[in-house]
Amino acid sequence: VLSARGLRKTYGDRVVLDGIDLDVHPHDVVCLIGSSGSGKSTLLRCLDLLEDIDDGTISLDGREVSDPRTDPREVRRSGIGMVFQAYNLFPHLTVLQNCTLAPTRVHGVSADAARERAQRLLERFGLAEKADAHPDALSGGQQQRVALVRALCTEPRVLLLDEITAALDPELVGEVLAVVRAEAEAGMTMVLATHEMAFAREVATRVCFLDRGRILEQGPPAEVLVSPREPRTREFLRRVL
Ligand code: ATP
Ligand code: MG
Repeated sequence: VLSARGLRKTYGDRVVLDGIDLDVHPHDVVCLIGSSGSGKSTLLRCLDLLEDIDDGTISLDGREVSDPRTDPREVRRSGIGMVFQAYNLFPHLTVLQNCTLAPTRVHGVSADAARERAQRLLERFGLAEKADAHPDALSGGQQQRVALVRALCTEPRVLLLDEITAALDPELVGEVLAVVRAEAEAGMTMVLATHEMAFAREVATRVCFLDRGRILEQGPPAEVLVSPREPRTREFLRRVL
């Protein structure tokens, strides 16, 4: 679905991504792990076309989308949905309105169809009775679940998730991860940066260990998280597990 070739990103003279090759296939759940500053968020932002890249290419369904002439909004419309660490719901809109805004305004879905889809997803994730509430009346975990529902409402081909539980109290992490797990089981294609190793081990089809802007090692979680080849991966896991 989504692939990056030789992706390079610098900020000033700092190389943040140093030749990333990544292939995301349908139904893949790719977990990006690595120390703080290794480039996970930057990689996700590049894949979401939020950053100009210095070298390399990004393709979505075989079409090169990193070409400066392509309109990122159009690409996001046709396939990539992203959820960030800090849920950024629109505070002045209700939960339901948050979820139907992009489909109706950007994707040309009818109001009825958008509402129906949003209600179905809210129900699936235990948020049906919150549809008419405003975000500030919800807990952090509920808000983050709404942010996920909102991203799913645009029917993305790939969902990019950046540390979506990092801002949550520990007791709320589980309910958000449960939504991600359910989507993974339903076959959603996802790339997610996470510090939750137990979760990565459980849902990932592939784990990529980023180290100083490179994918140093990747493979099934049972390999990378249990018997990593690279000393640096081992050292990282020893620190976080
Ligand atoms: P964390 O686990 O803490 O979220 P990360 O792996 O997501 O870390 P990134 O946020 O991708 O790391 O950052 C990679 C490097 O790029 C860091 O050294 C960071 O300081 C640098 N960086 C990120 N964004 C910018 C920016 N807008 N301008 C300058 N440097 C940046
Ligand atoms: Mg980050």
